Parts: sequence; structure tokens; C-alpha cells
Amino acid sequence: MDDHRLLNYVNGRWQAASAVESLDVFNPATAEKLATVPLSTAADAETAVAAAAAAQPGWQRLPVTDRIQYLFKLKMLLEDQFEAIARIITQECGKTIGESRGEMRRAIENVEVACGAPSMMMGDFVEDVARGIDELMIRQPVGVCAIISPFNFPGMIPFWFLPYALACGNTVVVKPSERVPLTMRKVFQLLEQLDLPPGVVNLVNGGKEAVDALLDHPDVRAISFVGSTPVARYVYSRGAANGKRVQAQGGAKNPIIVLPDADMDMTTQIAADSAFGCAGQRCLAASVAITIGEARHTFTEAIADTAVSRVVGYGLDESVQMGPVISRQSQSRIEGLIAQGKLSGGTLLVDGRAPQIPGYEQGSFIRPTILQDIDPHSELARTEIFGPVLSLIHLSSLDEAIALINSGQYGNMACLFTSSGHAARRFRSEVQAGNVGINVGVAAPMAFFPFSGWKESFFGTLHAQGKHAVEFYTQTKVVVERWPQEWSRKF
Ligand code: NAD
Repeated sequence: MDDHRLLNYVNGRWQAASAVESLDVFNPATAEKLATVPLSTAADAETAVAAAAAAQPGWQRLPVTDRIQYLFKLKMLLEDQFEAIARIITQECGKTIGESRGEMRRAIENVEVACGAPSMMMGDFVEDVARGIDELMIRQPVGVCAIISPFNFPGMIPFWFLPYALACGNTVVVKPSERVPLTMRKVFQLLEQLDLPPGVVNLVNGGKEAVDALLDHPDVRAISFVGSTPVARYVYSRGAANGKRVQAQGGAKNPIIVLPDADMDMTTQIAADSAFGCAGQRCLAASVAITIGEARHTFTEAIADTAVSRVVGYGLDESVQMGPVISRQSQSRIEGLIAQGKLSGGTLLVDGRAPQIPGYEQGSFIRPTILQDIDPHSELARTEIFGPVLSLIHLSSLDEAIALINSGQYGNMACLFTSSGHAARRFRSEVQAGNVGINVGVAAPMAFFPFSGWKESFFGTLHAQGKHAVEFYTQTKVVVERWPQEWSRKF
């Protein structure tokens, strides 16, 4: 028996997956092996769905005011274990401890917002839509919901969904990324302390086989997915073909525009944090900076200096500003894209490949990298790199920049840096992106706003977080009631 082999949490108990296949999980900074994750089989996923399905009617009958008491308690446990969870995120995912804390703060914020479910679930009522007839709309849970998450926010992303699904009376099966399974193990150890009825929350470790089983199981009524665009598209189509409601967030290629009237010091700092924060492994990372007019020179010089000065290392060291990327494979893929950018005519202004980080020689590090004079129509300008690489493009007007952005396949985020209200207002209105930043580099919506995303960054209708989540996790029921006048007269 491998002590490192992780267990699933099903029906209120930790239990071994029946899976034979497994993967090793490594700390991307130290290359230390952290765990072995079972690649749960379809049968493992089905056991979890059966537990969730059995628990759902009882959970739904519990008043919403009682259901949210569990969330209040969960918030306290998360606060209590805040630092411990942040450390796990840094150890398995690589981001800095400060970034892990930021991630968990947003996770907790989602728990807080979901505690407002009694008001967010409110229905409608109209008396006397016709003589003696009333009509009402109530929101009821959809049933068993599956949550499938990516590697880059192992703590936050499941919380875009989980607290709302539970508050609305659903039961859940969570399938974290097989590359970062330890954060959800810790979270489920806390969920276990809530004494929820068995089966209300379930954890299934694994990859594609477990996902496919969830997509095909008739008792799973809703799928919340976050990951790369090809998989998001696949999950959306297969889930929808099976009659489920699906929200599937995909990849991104986020542009920022820098106008010459921008505050250049502030813009550079913010742009660098956006491009190189989380080692660029963030769906809201700036990947392309489009400079207009004179901004070309001032911004280019300043961002190059900032990139070179970033402190790169193991994220548990508080002085480190950027950690490794998730794996050696990811490092090679990113380095390959940098080489391709150079081949297709770009100039490597700052080359962050193959850095030596003393003490962490086995880690999968890339330093901040900047490519300039990238052809706006080249593959590099359009491909999601998901690493600390910023491509610079120069154009002559805001019109051209907006047209270029709107011709892209993704629509997760777009940002503008300017001191002109007129330019900002036009950009906000015309740019095709679900999350827009004005003098902001990571336009991540607070938990009470939907995490929008357009085009190939999102498949579905209702987004994660806030009221959208409540709508996604409830189905509306309209009731028309007749109460004849003569019955009333009896009293
Ligand atoms: P991924 O698509 O490889 O994996 C996401 C999830 O899907 C994992 O749980 C994985 O086990 C599962 N999966 C992978 N391949 C599958 C397949 N063929 N069939 C069924 N399931 C499969 O994504 P990742 O590499 O873990 O995460 C990075 C990606 O996620 C990036 O593209 C990033 O932009 C995106 N992302 C998007 C958002 C957003 O809000 N739009 C947020 C975070 C990350």
C-alpha cells in the first residue's frame, strides 16, 4: 500500500479508488514527489454519483437557512486553515505564497456570497393574474452537479461553484485536476468536519475517464468545467448532448492596450504583474501588449527593466515574486513557443529560458520573457502560451487595436491603459471580451459578479459566481393556482 496514494471521498468516507492507473504529483519548484493520484475509473465516478443522488432529496428538503449554516462554519474552518491551504497550493502548483493567499481569499469570498442564497433564490409572485388565479415562480435545485477544475487555481476555482451548488440544495461531485489534487484533499478534510449528511459532497480524483463518466451519467444534471478551450468545447458538447446544463470556461489570449497618455510607471507595474504573476499561468494573464504611438518606446523600455528585475524562485520564500511553471513538459512547450516566435520574425527582448535558480536546479522555471515586433497575425500572437511570456505589438491607433483584439478567437479579458475617459468609454463598449479592465491588469470579477468570458473562452450561458451561479444551480418552476371566489366566501 502506497502511503502517498490519495483517496477519494465518497458518501462521507475516505476510500481507495478501484483504479489501477495513477500519476505522481511533484512540487514544480523542488521536483519532490508529493503524492500519487489514482486515475479513478468510470465505476469510481459512478459510485460517487450514486452517493450524491441518494443524498440529494434530503439535502433539498433541508431549509436553505439551515443549509447555509454549514457554509458559515466552512468559512470559519477555511479562515482557520488559511495559511496551511495556501502552503499546499504553493507546494503543488508553484505560485508564490502571496498569490496562493490571494487565491484562497477569493475562494472564501465565494463562500460568503453564497451565504446570501436565501435572498438570491427568491422567486416571484403575482396575485390575481386572472380572477381568482395567482401565479408564482420558485427556484429548485437541479440535482447532482459535477465540478471539474484545472491545475492553475486548485483552491479558488472549485469555490466558484461548490458553495452555490450546496446552498441551492444540490449535491456535488468534485473532480480536481490530477496535477494538483492535494488542495482539494485538504478542503475535503475541512468539509468532513462540517458533519454534512453523507453523499452531499464527494471527491473523485482522476482524469479523462472520470470526467467522461460524469458527462455520461444520467443522474448528473449539471456540469461546471474550467480548463483549456479544446476540453471545454468537448465537455460542453458531450454534456449538452446528454441533456445536461453545462457551463464550460476555456482558455484565453488576453491583450492589453497601452495608449501614450497612460501613467507609464503604474501601467508597467500592473502589466508586469498581469503577464508574469502566477508565472503567466492565469486565464486572466496579459499575453499581448499593444502599444500605440509614443507608448512604444516608453512602455517597451520600462517593461523590459521590470521583467529582468523579477525575483524568481520557490514560492514559499516570501521574497520571491514568481514561481515555476507547473511541469517540465509545460516548460519545454513554452520554450518551444518562444523559439517559434523568434523564428517567425519576433525579437527576443528579454529571454527567460533555462534560468539557473540556485538550490532549485530540478525545478521547471522560466524567467519573464518578452518578445517584440510580433506579427499581429502570427500564430504566436494568437496561441495561448500559459507561461510568463509577453509579446509586444505596435499599432498606430486605438481603432486598429480594437479591431485586432476583436478578430481573435478568445474573449476572456481585454484591458486598456489610458488617462482619457473618452478612449476608455469607447473601449469598454466596443471590445469583445467578457472581463474588461481600465487601468487594471487582471480584471478578475469579485465573487458577487459573474466571471464572464466570451467567444471561445466560454461555452454556455450562465457564468460562475454570484447570481449567475444561483441561476445555474436552480431550475425555475412556475405554478398557476386557481382559488375560486366562492371557496373564499365560505370563511
Ligand atoms: P485542461 O483542459 O488540461 O484540464 C482541465 C480539466 O479537464 C482537468 O480536471 C482534467 O483532468 C480534465 N481533462 C483534461 N483533458 C481531458 C479530456 N480529454 N477529456 C476530459 N477531461 C479532460 O486544463 P489545465 O491545463 O488543467 O488548465 C489550464 C487551462 O485552463 C488554460 O487553458 C487556462 O486558460 C484555462 N483556464 C481558464 C479559466 C477561465 O476562467 N476561463 C480559468 C482557469 C484556467
